[in-house]
Amino acid sequence: MPHWSSLIRDIPDFPKPGIVFKDITPVLADARGFAAAIDAMAAPWREAVPDAFIGIESRGFIFAAALAHSLGAGFVPVRKPGKLPARTLAHDYALEYGSDRLEMHADALPPGARVVLVDDVLATGGTLRAALSLARQQGATVVGAAVLVELPELDGRARWDSDAPLHVALQG
Ligand code: AMP
Repeated sequence: MPHWSSLIRDIPDFPKPGIVFKDITPVLADARGFAAAIDAMAAPWREAVPDAFIGIESRGFIFAAALAHSLGAGFVPVRKPGKLPARTLAHDYALEYGSDRLEMHADALPPGARVVLVDDVLATGGTLRAALSLARQQGATVVGAAVLVELPELDGRARWDSDAPLHVALQG
């Protein structure tokens, strides 16, 4: 196990009873831990750096922006409804706790842009699937996904509707 994995803490019954929340903020607060986590997430994309890393609000922003900077790629945000100022595309999806909608600027990516989707935690996979749909709606080529932690018991991988690799730095 990488040393930074011990910095991820389980918070029971957050944000509601029955959910065990993976709190990644201690990884971010630790200089070596944060750097090592980004290195682990970046490794699969070093040989063929994508045009952009697409970060999913909100913790996905942190990892996608760091990956973009580290590898010399762009960063594009996928946001919750009503946050992006220009014309957007939207996709509705189910969460482990509730449901939501994701939006992306319609002109955020040129057609055919090679992109990697990024989030902190893969739970049911609904969020990543929604981001995949949005990126495809824009004509982007999704070359993969990068997630820090997977909760394998929720089988979110089964909802990853793509032949492109879904790389997880740590099995939760
Ligand atoms: P899902 O769509 O179920 O795969 O949920 C993934 C999204 O919800 C990610 O953006 C996570 O940040 C958040 N999330 C879902 N479940 C958890 C959890 N148990 N711990 C931390 N974050 C979670």
